[in-house]
Amino acid sequence: MSTVTSVNPYSGEEIASFKTHTKSEISEILESANERFLSWRTTSFSERKKLMLAAASELKKNKKEYAGMMTQEIGKPITQSLAEVEKCAWVCEFYANEAENQLANELIETDAQKSYTSYEPLGVVLAVMPWNYPFWQVFRFAAPALMAGNIGVLKHASNVFGSALNIEKVFTRAGFPEHCFTTLLAKSDAVEAIIENPIVKAVTLTGSGPAGAAVAATAGQHIKKSVLELGGNNALVVLEDCDIDATVATCVQARYQNTGQSCIAGKRLLVAEGIADMFTEKLVQQVRELKSGDPLDESTYIGTMAREDLAEELEEQINQSVAKGAKLLLGGKRQGAYLEPTILSEVTPEMTVFKEETFGPALSITTFKTVDEAIALSNNSKFGLGVSVFSQDISAIEKLVYKFDEGAVFVNELVKSDPRLPFGGIKASGYGRELSKHGIQEFMNRKTVYIK
Ligand code: NDP
Repeated sequence: MSTVTSVNPYSGEEIASFKTHTKSEISEILESANERFLSWRTTSFSERKKLMLAAASELKKNKKEYAGMMTQEIGKPITQSLAEVEKCAWVCEFYANEAENQLANELIETDAQKSYTSYEPLGVVLAVMPWNYPFWQVFRFAAPALMAGNIGVLKHASNVFGSALNIEKVFTRAGFPEHCFTTLLAKSDAVEAIIENPIVKAVTLTGSGPAGAAVAATAGQHIKKSVLELGGNNALVVLEDCDIDATVATCVQARYQNTGQSCIAGKRLLVAEGIADMFTEKLVQQVRELKSGDPLDESTYIGTMAREDLAEELEEQINQSVAKGAKLLLGGKRQGAYLEPTILSEVTPEMTVFKEETFGPALSITTFKTVDEAIALSNNSKFGLGVSVFSQDISAIEKLVYKFDEGAVFVNELVKSDPRLPFGGIKASGYGRELSKHGIQEFMNRKTVYIK
């Protein structure tokens, strides 16, 4: 057992201290979760639906309480925290209503009298989750997992244990049976043993590449299914014929919402040479107007970053790129966990801000001459989560979609997660899919049934 103290990154004040669960407490929790699975798997979709809709109502009813904790823990502007809680209610409602259809038997014609696939839950699934969307990242796993008859066990990031306990509270207050969803207070060094426990049947991780590799290695050693949602270095590809004002507004949101701390944020702006000057001028103007300040103030759009070390890391990436010739158009200065909204132009693929994921409010700008060059620049990344392409010639863009090595291509829109659409990446961005019917089917036994 050890103690984890969470600190408000805006005020520097201590929020709370948490005692982590001991090894034997973790074992007991897993035993109880496994026992719960035996009854939970037999509940009907209508029973689960009632509970999941109650979870959605609970989220809406007490959204201020849940949002307030997120804002305290990671410095996220309060309006964005409230929107995050509301989005969680949406994913609960979506799976409450859709799960039964998504998991219905699939009849397959063969020479049998009857043959089909039935979807059956695996059991206890571990979720290792990050701090950047403390509620959303968890709910997009938990809502489908519970509706499918699985059991959720959460190991949340060590700086958001207050939110981790609040998530468990949502399910308790909604009336879910005990141990359908449990929060483990554990640090990353406890994860290996948890995955090794025979009760745990699968693991999902959202976070950095090294964390994903460690979790997948342990899961692989024990032949357990894993889903990884890792980083991204999404490009915003701005073609000459785009609607400039609408595109500028979308790009600003794509990069700076959540203070830039999002795997699907647009991090590398690639703009056609012919419009680059005009586009950049409008962009700088809009980013300059983004209001930084107290995350609890409703007019704040840019909060602090979640931890000071993360802000220091981003500052270092910016400084390294400037030293290699990038031009600092805006921002660049850091104070504690706050980093000014930053824009760098004349960025080349050799520079840190192009090569590495920048997980905060810093946008890099690179120009291109041809569409082929833009696609090559976009694909010049070890990540493959998503890309946004801006153009008014939609039919021409659709013909190019296959050329992007990404999990998602969004045209004239920022890459965003939506319960109705599959979400996930290729390359170093991970594997597997969350959300939609693809997400709920990840942790299922697709049982083949053949009746002669
Ligand atoms: P991490 O990837 O380290 O943390 C994410 C989760 O994984 C946390 O619960 C963490 O626990 C856990 N974890 C970390 N290392 C291991 C391990 N070896 N085995 C098992 N679990 C582990 O993110 P950081 O907070 O360190 O952020 C660093 C960078 O990661 C960011 O700058 C960003 O690039 C990327 N990131 C990507 C996210 C995404 O949405 N794809 C979200 C967050 C970060 P603990 O907190 O206890 O260490």
